[in-house]
Amino acid sequence: MLTTLIYRSRSLQKFSQTDIEKLSAKAFSNNVKLNVTGILLFDGEYFLQVLEGPSEAVSAIFKKLSTDPRHSNIVTMLHGKEGKHRFGSWGMYYVKVDDRSTKDTLRWVPKYHYLKEDDRVVQIIEHFVRGHWKIKTSAHATSTSNWDMKCISFPFKNRPEKREFEDYCFAFQPIINHEKQKVSSIEALLRGPGGISPQSVFSRFGNDAQAIHEFDLKSKARAISKAVHYGCATDLSINLLPKSLTQIKGSTEYILDALANSGLSPEQLVVEVTEDEAITNYEEFKTATQKLRSAGIRIAIDDFGAGYAGLSMLTEFQPDKLKIDRRLVDGISTSGPKQAIVSAIVDLCRPLGILVVAEGIETIEEFSWLKKVGIQRFQGFLFSKPELHSFDTVNIPTLDS
Ligand code: C2E
Ligand code: MN
Ligand code: MN
Repeated sequence: MLTTLIYRSRSLQKFSQTDIEKLSAKAFSNNVKLNVTGILLFDGEYFLQVLEGPSEAVSAIFKKLSTDPRHSNIVTMLHGKEGKHRFGSWGMYYVKVDDRSTKDTLRWVPKYHYLKEDDRVVQIIEHFVRGHWKIKTSAHATSTSNWDMKCISFPFKNRPEKREFEDYCFAFQPIINHEKQKVSSIEALLRGPGGISPQSVFSRFGNDAQAIHEFDLKSKARAISKAVHYGCATDLSINLLPKSLTQIKGSTEYILDALANSGLSPEQLVVEVTEDEAITNYEEFKTATQKLRSAGIRIAIDDFGAGYAGLSMLTEFQPDKLKIDRRLVDGISTSGPKQAIVSAIVDLCRPLGILVVAEGIETIEEFSWLKKVGIQRFQGFLFSKPELHSFDTVNIPTLDS
């Protein structure tokens, strides 16, 4: 099977013209033996490398290159199976990228090869050569080893008393405002006895949709009163199925009553909804969210990019916050497609005043990339796991000085 792999990386040392020529001569003989064709572009700081050849050989070369200490910040831009060779069996071709090369980048590609102007490989090369991407991406290339973890206290003023038996309860997970080095909100996540998942709690109701929605809504009174009982000093985020808002009569009033009974102000509450069902009864959803908003409650679209939540929704309805699903966050520091998507979401939300939250952040690499690209709020195990009983500390990455 044929594979094409394109990656971009940042050089960690100065390369003279002779260095690069030596490097590509070495790669040339290696590639020829393996029937791999390579194209190497270098702009003085960044490399773009195209590798085309038998899948195993390409993977082996990439594996070796990934540990080469002369470059870092390796981002895979394309990795796909191909039917035909786009390029000839050149072994290796080096292109020096300078101001003059902006025009007609691929003038050097021999005409007889299977390569069209609108081919993705050509598009990726041209984008690299134009260099606009650097404004955003180059900033993320700072070393992740510059970050230290600082512990701050969990923003619950009161410690919970001894565990009591409950048929359901809530775990709480902080959302971080990194610029201010503080927790901006705490998300309440449903748990069953022994901390079992929200899905297993809902499964008690089988297929009874009405019962699920009713429980979903009513359980929020407990989430709100618990948070207040613990002395929640930040905003509180709760999750609701869209139908728990649209199909249960008086849902807005129920939430407002729960707020009034507990003493939490509507301005402190954020309602997170996944977009899945909302789009099917859109008008009802809009009416319900308008009611919440007019009471001062903010709306977040959860799991954006997970499958349901589509861009077209934003033409009709702009939430206060948009939470980028953790599948887009996972491994973002090495994935070209994830980087392009997340960076585009940030760009489109900024002018609309929609705050972008990234969830599921587990590593400092993911965090530092998201931070550099303009994400404003962060959530994930890196900072704190959802906690049921021990609300101790929250980790905040800080740059060493
Ligand atoms: P969600 O609202 O997107 O919540 C985030 C989920 O990701 C939580 O799973 C949380 O434990 C998990 N998570 C947080 N940080 C990380 C991380 O760094 N890595 C990984 N791997 N996971 C992380 P959980 O608590 O199992 O909740 C799953 C989903 O269940 C929630 O996703 C939410 O959609 C739903 N849910 C939770 N509570 C409720 C509720 O009261 N009502 C409704 N309707 N849905 C709820
Ligand atoms: Mn959520
Ligand atoms: Mn989510």
